[in-house]
Amino acid sequence: MNDVSLMIGLETHVQLNTKTKAFCACKNPVNLPEEAEPNTLTCPVCLGLPGSKPTCNKRFVELASKVAIALGAKLAKDTFFSRKTYFYPDMSKNFQTTQYEVPLASGTTLKIIPDCKKDIRLRRIHMEEDPAKLIHAGTHTLVDYNRAGIPLIEIVTEPDFRSPKEARNYLQKLAQILAYLGVYDPMSDASIKTDANISIQGGERVELKNITGTKEIERALSYELLRQKNVLRRGAKVVQETRAWKPETGVSKALRTKETEEDYGYIFEPDLSRITTNDAFSKKISFGMPELPDTRRARFIKQYNVSGKMAESLTSEKELSDLFELACKKAKPDVSATWVGIVLAKTLNYNNLTMKSSGMKNEWVIELIHAFQNKEYSDQTAERILRKMVGNKCGYHVAVNKYNFPKLGEGANISEMAKKVVSANKKAVDDYKAGESKSLNFLIGQLIRESRGSIDAEGAKKEILKQIS
Ligand code: ADP
Ligand code: ZN
Ligand code: MG
Repeated sequence: MNDVSLMIGLETHVQLNTKTKAFCACKNPVNLPEEAEPNTLTCPVCLGLPGSKPTCNKRFVELASKVAIALGAKLAKDTFFSRKTYFYPDMSKNFQTTQYEVPLASGTTLKIIPDCKKDIRLRRIHMEEDPAKLIHAGTHTLVDYNRAGIPLIEIVTEPDFRSPKEARNYLQKLAQILAYLGVYDPMSDASIKTDANISIQGGERVELKNITGTKEIERALSYELLRQKNVLRRGAKVVQETRAWKPETGVSKALRTKETEEDYGYIFEPDLSRITTNDAFSKKISFGMPELPDTRRARFIKQYNVSGKMAESLTSEKELSDLFELACKKAKPDVSATWVGIVLAKTLNYNNLTMKSSGMKNEWVIELIHAFQNKEYSDQTAERILRKMVGNKCGYHVAVNKYNFPKLGEGANISEMAKKVVSANKKAVDDYKAGESKSLNFLIGQLIRESRGSIDAEGAKKEILKQIS
């Protein structure tokens, strides 16, 4: 399949982490450490009781504008909310408060991979509210209105993606920027939901609803692409429809033939005041904007002389990049980069953590890097210390005291060990003497292992050579 005939466009909803909901004073559940009892974070406004009147949360407009400006979009000078009318129990007012005619911001593109020409055009960025959560339990459906009224920002792209992988890269880039801005909870998959529109040549567009998180998108789109190709292969037609993605089974299921936006009958929301923005407002929002990942990545390459790939890893998370810069004040940039961008990144990833969620303190890691640079530990030992630190959420000194990690050249009698390794591996010694240089590496590895990391590769080589020459 020639990918040029494949078109994908995404509509992504992000729950913003304001203290209170979009149009009432209820607590925003996104910020609570534990999930609240159903329907406890509600009031007449978010329950849609007759006569209740919404007011717009100022912080909502500010955070949404912060995202829009960070993405390079232009804020509308004058915009407003609209009612998207529909009947469904997840929105008891019988309409969703959203923006339709004039979005909060528009007119920008997002580069999904640094140094790559591919730009995705963003069609619109607007504000709306989350509907309630429906829980299907056997023959009953339960409604939890805690979610009703969570402020959302919706980011809609043009159909510029040519593969499921590109769609995934885009979502990851977007999530990275949002995490830098600190406007959402990156640890919760529920905080980003995407509707994906996908079509192939000769067929109409299908909308896949409610794909959660950033990873699932590639799987959902790959499945749907295959399904559409098979429909065409059978000589049938792909019809325009809305389908639900079912992550448990890995298939999409038809929901309804696709309605168009016009079918909803949007009307102006008279209970909320208009939103006007001016240069002073944009300036205020831009002030205190953190350095964004692509800019930071480029600066790291220049300032610390690290490779593009390393800079990418270091800036994958804001907290990780902050740690790297702090470490550079105490240790060499190349050593700091290796320990933060490779070893720590790998260890966090293995434990399904981020620097932010790990509870690790910057000083802990910096002390370890410092000790390694001062040749207190071999790289193997230092890595094992780091694993204990991450696993036990503890400092460098705590880990070292608790687990008794050997210092370089400490304790064990290295030449005794080297003797042992040499006599236990006669064949490798003979091979080495016959010109097989790989055998020396083998012996060095054996000695490092034997010493439990109290000797590094350089020291091990010296000892082995001493024994066999
Ligand atoms: P609707 O108003 O029905 O939601 P839009 O025209 O606003 O439809 O488009 C919604 C999304 O669908 C956008 O992200 C857009 O990029 C995408 N889209 C539009 N046409 C196509 C297509 N032919 N194939 C894939 N995606 C498309
Ligand atoms: Zn409320
Ligand atoms: Mg739509």
